[in-house]
Amino acid sequence: MTSVSPHKKARALKSTSRRPAKELCSECGLCDTYYIHYVKEACAFINQQIGELEEETHTRSRHLDNPDELYFGVHQDMMAARKQQPIEGAQWTGIVSSIAIEMLNRGIVEGVVCVQNTKEDRFQPMPVIARTPEEILAARVNKPTLSPNLSVLEQIEKSGMKRLLVIGVGCQIQALRAVEKQLGLEKLYVLGTPCVDNVNRAGLQKFLETTSRSPETVVHYEFMQDFRVHFKHEDGSTETVPFFGLKTNQLKDVFAPSCMSCFDYVNSLADLVVGYMGAPFGWQWIVVRNDTGKEMLDLVKDQLDTQPVTSKGNRKEAVQQSIPAYDKGVTLPMWAAKLMGVVIEKIGPKGLEYARFSIDSHFTRNYLYVKRNHPEKLEAHVPEFAKRIVGQYQLPE
Ligand code: FAD
Ligand code: SF4
Repeated sequence: MTSVSPHKKARALKSTSRRPAKELCSECGLCDTYYIHYVKEACAFINQQIGELEEETHTRSRHLDNPDELYFGVHQDMMAARKQQPIEGAQWTGIVSSIAIEMLNRGIVEGVVCVQNTKEDRFQPMPVIARTPEEILAARVNKPTLSPNLSVLEQIEKSGMKRLLVIGVGCQIQALRAVEKQLGLEKLYVLGTPCVDNVNRAGLQKFLETTSRSPETVVHYEFMQDFRVHFKHEDGSTETVPFFGLKTNQLKDVFAPSCMSCFDYVNSLADLVVGYMGAPFGWQWIVVRNDTGKEMLDLVKDQLDTQPVTSKGNRKEAVQQSIPAYDKGVTLPMWAAKLMGVVIEKIGPKGLEYARFSIDSHFTRNYLYVKRNHPEKLEAHVPEFAKRIVGQYQLPE
């Protein structure tokens, strides 16, 4: 018997075709599938609808007058955590991979959407539906490039899977939530990571070449809470470069236009978010948004050390000063950048205040980008919570 698909379909775009969101497209993968039919509603860059989707997903949108919700979205719990036995080669301690493996091993889901890399290039993303722990482990560590995670959505319907876990970043998850009802699933679990400043593959090359001493041997990097970029090389060595020493003038066009216009840094629509920026150095930061997220986290609680989140320092002045400096593409000499890094690490914002520092710096930069490049989109595209955050600062014209 042939089954009749319950939803409408349209022909997927060829990989070379221009996407409906044009230069703002983050290559989330939706338009590589017949779910492109829903693109005008679903695309995070055509129809920003975080508030509405928060209500559908978490039963309410965030309380804008609650300072933690304003910044970090709807949540019932937050903590710092790390795996007692970290997964070798994971981005941090491997909490994301561990939750996915546990969900598969216990039969809670039949498959996991995650992203491996191609054989030829460790940074070229290759989204898959993993059905074994080995396939999940092969997807560990960030692919710091735009990744079409949703390009596998057609395979889900074809496979007949009913219980699925999707791992992804904000723009992918916004589009996923918008088509969730069309996927024919009994239960969808969403494990998100925060995401910011992503790049296409060519942009990544430029970033590595302008910033690292040995771009071809980098296996992993992260902008960390000590205000330095940490590169890990093939031979296991670590290289650190202070944020303030980045060649801002050369790197200004590296970040993808989608990421320069994104206000969903904290992945508002995931059930559970696992990042690092609200936690002490070396720890991961966990945001439990709803009961489904709690159910997911409980599966690995006995593998984790945890501690409450804390907050120290005051970010406001540093953010305000960084706005015109970034705008003018100011780059400090390396000795001054290192000195500034040491000082700010000692007296600068820590824990949740560091997360707010990062959110404020990116939202103010992105607000200016949208205002200057897509003024007609500014009002509808910037969510109310981001307008309030940006409103705390004085911006140049
Ligand atoms: P692992 O167990 O190593 O698993 C990583 C998972 O990420 C894998 O399942 C893989 O499928 C998925 N993944 C890898 N690359 C991508 C991609 N391009 N798109 C979608 N999914 C992907 N956290 C912060 O707190 N602040 C930040 O500023 C921040 N920026 C980030 C920027 C990018 C581009 C990405 C991908 C993540 C970012 N994160 C950020 C999240 C953080 O770096 C870690 O991914 C997270 O803490 C999980 O670590 P882990 O060791 O548990 O993950
Ligand atoms: Fe399509 Fe996703 Fe690009 Fe929007 S961001 S145009 S939904 S591929």
